[in-house]
Amino acid sequence: MVTTELLFRADAYLKTASARVVAVHERGIELDRTIFYPMGGGQAGDAGVLLRAGGERIEVVDVRKGESMDSVLHIAASAMPRLELGEALTLEIDWPRRYALMRLHTALHVMSCVVVAPVTGGNISPDKARLDFDIDMSLLDARRIEQETNALIARGVETETVWISDEELDARPELVKTMSVQPPRGAGRVRLLRIPGIDLQPCGGTHVHNIAEIGGIRVLKIRSEGRHNKRVEIALAS
Ligand SMILES: [Zn+2]
Repeated sequence: MVTTELLFRADAYLKTASARVVAVHERGIELDRTIFYPMGGGQAGDAGVLLRAGGERIEVVDVRKGESMDSVLHIAASAMPRLELGEALTLEIDWPRRYALMRLHTALHVMSCVVVAPVTGGNISPDKARLDFDIDMSLLDARRIEQETNALIARGVETETVWISDEELDARPELVKTMSVQPPRGAGRVRLLRIPGIDLQPCGGTHVHNIAEIGGIRVLKIRSEGRHNKRVEIALAS
């Protein structure tokens, strides 16, 4: 079973790294370590390139989780290149795209503390992000959500990653706001994102160091997607 060291967990700001090929098959390329975030928790997978020693560029168009817990599949744009097992590659992620994902992802954490209701879904793409809430439509006001979220962002708080045990999380069910995405169990510990004074919840995604990096958000639209899904869609203000 192949597991990949997930370098973005410790440092979401890595734009380049070296790695070795451990498997190549029709579903993708697996490496011993990666800076590419695989689609998960509502966040889109990264894009970028894998550079071979001879200069050949392999374009990565999507990144997905493999079958085992920490395996990552890098999906190439064209027919699967003939990589050697053990071959060293230089990884480069599409940083402007990823940074937009990080800013929007962190913005959703902040917004989830402005709209106080269970989260029933969410999605983050490079140009917009959304959360679905189980709430009455009359309680969602675009202007208020925008102003209050931006007021929290303006506090410029540093974010922190903390780990707790499965048992500690079980003892504090209020930490899990998202009904549709339960945090991964089985590894013995769960990763949390803390935005001091604002938010604390399990999350395996990539976040900015300081919420000031978000800049600000705009609410694009609010609409009903069903009785328990009221969707708030946002974009970065600039
Ligand atoms: Zn997160």
